[in-house]
Amino acid sequence: MARISINLSTGSLQKEEMIVGIDLGTTNSLVSIIHPDTKQPIALKEHNSSSIVPSIIYFDENNNVIVGEEARKFLELKPERTIFSAKRLMGKSYRDIKENADFFSYKIIDDDTESLVKVQIGNVFYSPIELSSFILKELKNRAEHILKTPVNKAVITVPAYFNDAQRQATRDAGKLAGLDVLRIVNEPTAASLAYGIGLNTNAESTPQTIAVYDLGGGTFDISILRIINGIVDVLSTNGDTYLGGDDFDKVIIDFWKRENNISDDTLHQDKSLYQSIRLKAEEAKKYLSSNESFETNLNSFQLRISKNEFDQLIEPLIERTITCSKNALKDAKLTQNDITTVVMVGGSTRIPLVKNRIGEFFNQIVNDSVNPDEVVALGAAIQADILAGNNKELLLLDITPLSLGIETAGGLMDVLIPRNSKVPTKASRQYTTQVDGQSGMRISVFQGERDLVNDNRKLATLNLTNIPGMPAGMPKVEVSFLINADGILTVAAKELRSGVEQQIEIKPQYGLTDETVEKMLMDSIHHAKDDIALRALTEARTEGEQLLKTTEKFLQKNSGALSKVELLDTANAMQALQLSITMDDKNLIQQKIEALNDLSRPYAERIMDEAISNAMKGKQI
Ligand code: AMP
Repeated sequence: MARISINLSTGSLQKEEMIVGIDLGTTNSLVSIIHPDTKQPIALKEHNSSSIVPSIIYFDENNNVIVGEEARKFLELKPERTIFSAKRLMGKSYRDIKENADFFSYKIIDDDTESLVKVQIGNVFYSPIELSSFILKELKNRAEHILKTPVNKAVITVPAYFNDAQRQATRDAGKLAGLDVLRIVNEPTAASLAYGIGLNTNAESTPQTIAVYDLGGGTFDISILRIINGIVDVLSTNGDTYLGGDDFDKVIIDFWKRENNISDDTLHQDKSLYQSIRLKAEEAKKYLSSNESFETNLNSFQLRISKNEFDQLIEPLIERTITCSKNALKDAKLTQNDITTVVMVGGSTRIPLVKNRIGEFFNQIVNDSVNPDEVVALGAAIQADILAGNNKELLLLDITPLSLGIETAGGLMDVLIPRNSKVPTKASRQYTTQVDGQSGMRISVFQGERDLVNDNRKLATLNLTNIPGMPAGMPKVEVSFLINADGILTVAAKELRSGVEQQIEIKPQYGLTDETVEKMLMDSIHHAKDDIALRALTEARTEGEQLLKTTEKFLQKNSGALSKVELLDTANAMQALQLSITMDDKNLIQQKIEALNDLSRPYAERIMDEAISNAMKGKQI
């Protein structure tokens, strides 16, 4: 339901559509808009409250849902009914998260490791998509309450490394929350937009290379972007999915444990003491961002820490983010000096040592003037405004992390869209049938860098049926891949002679973790040599089999026109080729292919000539 309003100067009816920008975060989420009067992005908040909605969901005994700050206290009181970090589960299978299963204090179903994870609360099961939809619904309600207008459209941000499955899952969560998700935008891109970077679409604008350093409560991401004429291109991403402000709290807790001789056992037994110390540690950390020392009493304990002590404790953690940043630069084939701007995102970048060390590493003063908790949501609102037609159209490009292709004869991977292609993108290629009268074609879509599809990851299978009967090689099947701006792949197949077609949108069964993507890339490098050899062998085999088939067909039709010797030699050559195909020697197969070709060429030409002259007989020229 959209609101209708009247333009007072023209008297005409106007449809007003509010498109909000949403940062759906691991720890915190928020919603923002472009202020209709000031035209500036603002994060929405009720009077005297924070714009931040903790991404926490509590289900009471009747499965009523409480989201946000109010749900926080249940993390301790009812850990098994309180969900946090649902974003970490988006588009994942149990296998993907198995190693970190201890991190979650709620029950994750582990009986089927391959399909998407589900969370169990009492006897009800929830998918990560449903869980995220509860957070989105809360944000939508909040926005509607503050704006006093229905909110049905949104732009939602996701990490730059999110794959198809995770983007699709986020989109589905939006749909479930009653939101039409107009665009999924990368978080670093949104953060850059909030700093006004990339808003100049002027052709003369100089290219910029941006490092977006995002250190939140539980995760760290670094992204390198290149922005030319308003086109944003993600050059590389890196990070640590288990490093953030929580770890800074933890070093303070450990420090106080040492200072006050508090044992692990004591804290283990007294959960509420641990919780109180944890809250004090976070308070101390925040306080030290603008003060020199912190001191308080808790029960009989004296909890104190100076800024210097804190800095020393977190130094190794900051170093880890620098290692990730180095790797991101390496992947983008750049050095620190190529970076024109460094943008700070996430609450933990408020820590002075973080800002200083990162500025030192990149050799420049970092951009930290926009509230680091809100910067991503503000950028999403700017993107929403662009989509609403209120701003110059900007193209926001991403890259594909792995190659996409289909399986061809012999189980080979035929790449249609190479890795690191910019999206949106499309590609198509023509294929044909191998058997006479073949009425169906099975198109299997794979993702990965290896030459054999078996070593890659299967995304989906598309069956093109009802191809009219034609001789092998006649049908022209055009397979096309289209990746839209959200990074979602649609595969279509069309037989061009008959117009028969089929199409699917690919929602992979489960997502790939960063580590898997990395492993798949490393494997492809390690096996590159083997793969080339194997590909050559497979191709030779396929060619040999094809030649055997056509020779057999030829003989069925024309054996009468061949001499006994020719027939015998051909049979021998075919047998030799057949045998070579069963062996692992590509050169031998090629040799036998050539031998059979050499043998059949003379009589094939002779028979062809005869056929032509027969056809010409009696015809007047
Ligand atoms: P985010 O996930 O981006 O919302 O980041 C939240 C994290 O930032 C939490 O770990 C907070 O404790 C931390 N944080 C917020 N404000 C400060 C501050 N002033 N100094 C240090 N850390 C902070």
